Amino acid sequence: MAEDCLFCKIFAREIPAKEVFRDEEIVAFEDIRPVAPTHVLVIPKEHIPTVHDLLPAHAPMLLRMFQVANQIADERKIDRDGYRLVMNKGPQAGQTVYHLHLHLLGGRAMAWPPG
Ligand code: 5GP
Ligand code: ZN
Repeated sequence: MAEDCLFCKIFAREIPAKEVFRDEEIVAFEDIRPVAPTHVLVIPKEHIPTVHDLLPAHAPMLLRMFQVANQIADERKIDRDGYRLVMNKGPQAGQTVYHLHLHLLGGRAMAWPPG
């Protein structure tokens, strides 16, 4: 657990969040400022600052993150219309929390290219 990391604290339940999934290594919760009808963040327990810090050993955990996002998409029945999975890396991409997280966005049409 990293000091002063918001998402480490959410994983440790030191800061409350509207959780939609939890197991030993992954938690998913509602984004506090949703930008779509479904906006869920999927995070690992391990403090990994950005997607650029991933190592080969993280592969099974990364797969689990995507599986959890897909499962939530199924539960919310947004799989047929489609959804977007996003990881922002660094300031230019809009990353604000430096603990790896996967955005699950759905429930409305989304533009491409992103802003
Ligand atoms: P990023 O901009 O780093 O890709 O995404 C960080 C996300 O975390 C943002 O969408 C932001 O709304 C969300 N967020 C920031 N602080 C909190 C918080 O305290 N609780 C929850 N649930 N989400 C947060
Ligand atoms: Zn962290």
